[in-house]
Amino acid sequence: MRLVVYPDARVVVTAPASFGARLIEQFITKHSGWIRRKVAKTAGRKVIPIKKGEILILKKQALTLASARCTHFANHYGFTYNKISVRAQKSRWGSCSRAGNLSFNYKIATLPTHIADYIIIHELCHLAEMNHSSRFWALVAKTIPDHKMVRKELRNTLVTFS
Ligand SMILES: [Zn+2]
Repeated sequence: MRLVVYPDARVVVTAPASFGARLIEQFITKHSGWIRRKVAKTAGRKVIPIKKGEILILKKQALTLASARCTHFANHYGFTYNKISVRAQKSRWGSCSRAGNLSFNYKIATLPTHIADYIIIHELCHLAEMNHSSRFWALVAKTIPDHKMVRKELRNTLVTFS
């Protein structure tokens, strides 16, 4: 079987007609990490590679980072929160519950400081505004006036297993 990622980020698998769909799907699944990295690079995204063996240490680092930055920024805004946790979330960077619990993706430990701070401030601001209204973004902008740029940078960053 042949796997090609084209410059326009199209992924094409070539296989003999006798190969069943299941076999082709297995092949794609097996190489999904490689495909993701290749597509991200093709699309001009910054790829931050991590290893499976680093997850535990990254979780510890993320919790230390999130705790310190939450204390700092919550104090700055005059917010109070309940608990902070770090999770292996698949597609989210963070969340904030109505009970005031903040949760962060352990991958924040790999991000440049200003991007990790944006994620932390974003979730903290949900303590006051449980939505993405203009009032919410005005709160974020109090600390990060150029948050649109930082969000763009975050969207262009992929933390993935090498
Ligand atoms: Zn949000």
